[in-house]
Amino acid sequence: MELLNPFLKYEEKSIINRFFKHSDVISLLNNLDPEKFFLTNLGSSAEGRSINLVKFGIGKTRILLWSQMHGDEPTATMALFDLFNFLQDTDERDNLRNSISTNCTLFILPMLNPDGAEIFTRRNVQGIDINRDFLQRQTPEGKVLAACRNDVNPHFAFNLHDQSTIWSAGKSGNPATISLLAPAFDVNLSVNPTREKAIQVISSINKELQQIIPDHVGRFADEYEPRAFGENFQKAGTSTILIEAGGYADDGEKQFIRKVTFTAILKGLEVIASKAYLNEDETNYFSIPKNEKLHFQILLRNCKLNHRGNSYYADIGLVAVERINEDLKSISITYMIEDMGDLSGFNGYEWYDASGLQITLIKPLICQQNADIIIQDGMTNILTIENGRITCKNF
Ligand SMILES: [Zn+2]
Repeated sequence: MELLNPFLKYEEKSIINRFFKHSDVISLLNNLDPEKFFLTNLGSSAEGRSINLVKFGIGKTRILLWSQMHGDEPTATMALFDLFNFLQDTDERDNLRNSISTNCTLFILPMLNPDGAEIFTRRNVQGIDINRDFLQRQTPEGKVLAACRNDVNPHFAFNLHDQSTIWSAGKSGNPATISLLAPAFDVNLSVNPTREKAIQVISSINKELQQIIPDHVGRFADEYEPRAFGENFQKAGTSTILIEAGGYADDGEKQFIRKVTFTAILKGLEVIASKAYLNEDETNYFSIPKNEKLHFQILLRNCKLNHRGNSYYADIGLVAVERINEDLKSISITYMIEDMGDLSGFNGYEWYDASGLQITLIKPLICQQNADIIIQDGMTNILTIENGRITCKNF
């Protein structure tokens, strides 16, 4: 965390949680320094909200960055506004700013899916996943992004997402706070010079992140998805870098992860501007452990259960399911049973050893259904979950 302190001054203070909307984005864009940023309206979402491009710098290397093509994945949009504040400031980091602005031109598209952001859903308002629409181009948002890449013809691209908090950084026991990937451009996962450059930039980013969040970095699933934008941009000759903001303990609103994401993006821009990424090879990239699903929200170990009078022990792994409330500015969480049995090798943001405690099942335990359970230590209530809602917790 100390390593992030120098960057706190750039944080966009008006964004404090994940539920900001298109109107917030627009007012922030309108406040950017017009001497440093050039704004263009690229088109509109299905519901008519503007999709905007922010241009910065005058350098030869063109870099395209877009965020929130999935409406409920806002972490990188926050980080991009922190980046704007960094870029328009002037202080002891002017060397880095000048290096970026003279060597690169940034083309930044914050919040590609404003309609999804409005109601905090992954898909656009047509119900289509924009990141599976590269080939068919049936969403206005996908059309805007594809046309933007064609116009800019960038050397590099940053594809910025959030991923579920249940992914872990390999078998480290830690959540994957950031996952990185140089998307494949073919089913054989070949490496050509375009993908090689993305791999080299990611190696530089990973080295930086290992200092801030050691063993909390994962490599995103490396499979070829022919309908996705990252894969097709890589195929078209743009070195494309996927950054996924995942989970971190006690960071439900992702305000720590936002700072880490900002640092990852800034490091990527720094090494592209200075060409320092060319000193990297593939080794560091392929040493990043693959994402695995080994992390629960709550892990209850050694629960003594009973079936027709026969007792047995099982671990119970719960995941948090988020639903946006009617105010569209807050969420409700229900806890669902994801897995049961021997869950050694798994971990949890919160965990409890239930050995020797009394377990009462309000309803039978069924995977993929809401938990309904009471755990007591004598007369003391340790945990009560009723139809997925926690009503009492003492650990
Ligand atoms: Zn996504």
